[in-house]
Amino acid sequence: MTTALHPQPDTAPRAGGPAEQPYVYRRRPLVEPDWRRFPGWRDVTAAEWRSAQWQRAHCVKNIRQLRQVMGDLIDEAFYADLERDQAERATMSMLVTPQMLNTMDTGSTEAFYADPVRRYMIPVFSDRRTDWPSHPHATRDSLHEAEMWAVEGLTHRYPTKVLAELLPTCPQYCGHCTRMDLVGNSTPAVDKHRFTIRPPDRHAAMLDYLRRTPGVRDVVVSGGDVANLPWPRLEAFVDALLDIDSIRDIRLASKALMGLPQHWLQDDVRAGMERLAAKARRRGVQIAIHTHVNAAQSVTPLVAEAARAMLDTGIRDVRNQGVLLRGVNDTPAALLDLSFALLDEAGIMPYYFYLCDMIPYSEHWRLAVWEAQELQHAIMGYLPGFATPRIVCDVPYVGKRWVHQLAEYDRERGISYWTKNYRTGLEAADPDALTRRYEYYDPIYTLPESGQAWWRSH
Ligand code: SF4
Repeated sequence: MTTALHPQPDTAPRAGGPAEQPYVYRRRPLVEPDWRRFPGWRDVTAAEWRSAQWQRAHCVKNIRQLRQVMGDLIDEAFYADLERDQAERATMSMLVTPQMLNTMDTGSTEAFYADPVRRYMIPVFSDRRTDWPSHPHATRDSLHEAEMWAVEGLTHRYPTKVLAELLPTCPQYCGHCTRMDLVGNSTPAVDKHRFTIRPPDRHAAMLDYLRRTPGVRDVVVSGGDVANLPWPRLEAFVDALLDIDSIRDIRLASKALMGLPQHWLQDDVRAGMERLAAKARRRGVQIAIHTHVNAAQSVTPLVAEAARAMLDTGIRDVRNQGVLLRGVNDTPAALLDLSFALLDEAGIMPYYFYLCDMIPYSEHWRLAVWEAQELQHAIMGYLPGFATPRIVCDVPYVGKRWVHQLAEYDRERGISYWTKNYRTGLEAADPDALTRRYEYYDPIYTLPESGQAWWRSH
């Protein structure tokens, strides 16, 4: 019977076979490069490499240690370039886990310079722009999170969500960190702010605020990186969140799931996550881990093992929030390779790519909004819809917006205008908050000459 719902198969030949595509999907096996190629790690055993303690103890924190590990794999000129950056430009101090250093291309000095992970984890002076190293509107705390603290470290920016910064440290420091204001050690360019309240009192004040504020249903437990909080303290905090009826979503932010997967593979951490996941399930609450992976090569077998170990504890999901960075992942192929590695090989959901925020000395990393729009268009249709990452702009005083959601765009001056549909605590009495336009700025060197001239004269 042929009906509209059950058409007879059409046996005529048709031209619907595989067509040539701009991106060619194929599964790629994950690789854990051999760390014994590093002169300083020639004798490191597999058991040592799997140990979180060994990884933490052997992080590279300065040029002397980098030289000890890398020896003559790279030229002396690289170290001088790095030294100048650290003295004049770096907003983050150096901290690279062996796990992350091992994923960088050490085949030659040129390959090391060009490596995507090196470009954001070990920035050097020659990477940065010299014409406009910083945008004139770049600021520390470019998202103004501290202005929206309900209690110290608890940012209440969206109506139903908060960000709890439990601690200001991470097992690894990224050159482009948006919380460069607070996270990590001071550098010659940036004297870091410090929390003033003792951690136990701050955490208690956060919990107290959430108990008093039932309109908040979603807590991002972050830092820094929660992997640097002793497990019993993290578990106690999340356990207390689970006792608050109004909290329905808890997301734990940890780049270390990729940078130090050994941490998340420890027996005590896995057992603790199982306890939290079981309690969350009983209470109908979703716990997820949000990690931060920017390049496909970072997804190694150990990272996949750690992600799957976390999923096995019974948590809802592991999701990735990467940052769109020039020279790191600014092509459709780089974003799709990364997304497929995450989704297919590690069970990690590609979720967001943020535009790099407007912090000082970040111009060489930042992309213009129109470039982000083009990338979003280019990656549509390859991944399942639920796993197609959204490219978002975190607009100061507004929050995350999909890059196509801008209200107006002056391409000549590189100024995009955005609107919002909720008030932060700062705007409780501001009648114009919901009609005002909020600005975001493209890197000046990406503008036409007339736009660049405008900025030079302003
Ligand atoms: S892991 Fe996150 S918080 Fe830590 S330095 Fe990197 S971007 Fe910043």
